[in-house]
Amino acid sequence: MKPCSEVFVEKMHDYLDGDITHQEHEELFEHMKKCTCCEEYFSVLSESITFLEGPEVLEAPDNFTKKVMNNLPNKNKSKFKDWVRKYPSVLAAAIFILMMGSALTTYVTEPNQLSYTKNSQLKVANNTVIVPKGVTINEDIIVENGDLKIEGKVNGNITVINGKEYLASVGEVTGDIEEVNEFFNWIWYRIKSIFK
Ligand SMILES: [Zn+2]
Repeated sequence: MKPCSEVFVEKMHDYLDGDITHQEHEELFEHMKKCTCCEEYFSVLSESITFLEGPEVLEAPDNFTKKVMNNLPNKNKSKFKDWVRKYPSVLAAAIFILMMGSALTTYVTEPNQLSYTKNSQLKVANNTVIVPKGVTINEDIIVENGDLKIEGKVNGNITVINGKEYLASVGEVTGDIEEVNEFFNWIWYRIKSIFK
């Protein structure tokens, strides 16, 4: 569900920030009539912003953004700043998620800790979660900060966050496979999971 072009993403943010010309507005909405990807992206984005503007939203504690910044891995800091400058509405959505006390808190304070779907049939070795040969897992698997190696079968979706997924020649996955390796993709992934 990725938008088809950055150009439209920028227009969506301009629109949501109330900074768009009449013509751009027309173009954007004309495009979204034809493009499901952009339409879906836009609806999630605008929902998250509507949420933020609702009365039930708590006020961010003092220094909140600063605290978040301090907890970010160094390489992401400058990128984060650029991003915020470019897309203030996304910052709002990101903060909203942070304030929901979601797993992001865990992510920023313990960036390297392996976590994965608890299933007694999964094995772990060298920061790699393994679906052993001959084993069938009948649920979705999420692996965070580690790799996933599939030698058996998975009846479900796979999500690997900050890691890689290896499918052995005998391995099989019936659902979707998604790798989330960029911090911002990760935020986006969280946004999507909340509104799913
Ligand atoms: Zn599109």
